[in-house]
Amino acid sequence: MSETTKIEWCDTTVNPIMGCEGCELRSAHVKSCYAGSLHDRYARTNPGFAPSFEQVTKFPGRMMTVAKLKNLQATERMLKPWLNGLQRLIFVSDMGDALSSSIDFPYLEQQIVDVVRSTAGRRHKWLWLTKRPERMATFSNYLKAKGISWPEHLCAGTSITTQSTVSRIDALGKVGNSETVRFLSVEPQLNAVELKGKLTTISWVIQGGESGPKARPFDLNWAESVRDTCRNANVPYFLKQLGSNPVVSGIPLKLKSHHGNDWNEWPVALRVRETPFERELDIFERLEVLS
Ligand code: SF4
Repeated sequence: MSETTKIEWCDTTVNPIMGCEGCELRSAHVKSCYAGSLHDRYARTNPGFAPSFEQVTKFPGRMMTVAKLKNLQATERMLKPWLNGLQRLIFVSDMGDALSSSIDFPYLEQQIVDVVRSTAGRRHKWLWLTKRPERMATFSNYLKAKGISWPEHLCAGTSITTQSTVSRIDALGKVGNSETVRFLSVEPQLNAVELKGKLTTISWVIQGGESGPKARPFDLNWAESVRDTCRNANVPYFLKQLGSNPVVSGIPLKLKSHHGNDWNEWPVALRVRETPFERELDIFERLEVLS
């Protein structure tokens, strides 16, 4: 777990499992998953990692440790002002995929759902991201059969990287119920994606380009397109980063920030970091009056 993180759309990360069975970003021939690369570097020497990325490993207890952290609603985020007034936003599973097939549902129920529903857990928003939304939907049905509703503060998300992975949205729409906040992480975006007509079950879209020395191009036209699709569908939009290789219609855009995450370097019209969550900004006004 990491109480603080540089990831722009959350405050904290936690991993009830480490490792993953792979996806389009990680296989025998493809090695562009960030979590996988960190495992390759640290797994053998760090007991907090899985023995190897492909050996998906449980780490029980981490979720509850994070649940006990303080609610951040009244804490000003100096580096992420766009999150001010929100409960702590906790990204579940950034170092693997907890919906990997070897992880059993009773473990996910006990380590994720029970903790999220606990008194401590209810004080935060939990953002659970997977590239296996169909298995998340099956897990959601497993809970339903036990009479357990999907917790309203457990947001269900899936990642999209290319047009061929947009179909994950359909499976995500089957997770939870009408109250469930479902979100997309379109990152690292590797080609143009069309989301028009696809956002009816989606409450939030996050987008970003690839980072690192071998980053593939991220065209700012893609950002404009997804931003406009979100606006037309009335869905909050959050541009996380332009990545390490931003281009405008094929022409490279030189930025100082390595990940292209300093929005002061972006065109003004792309400086959009919205969330779907209710703010308590009047807390800051009350604190100002008291100070
Ligand atoms: S699903 Fe996520 S954690 Fe697993 S290999 Fe793909 S990008 Fe990495």
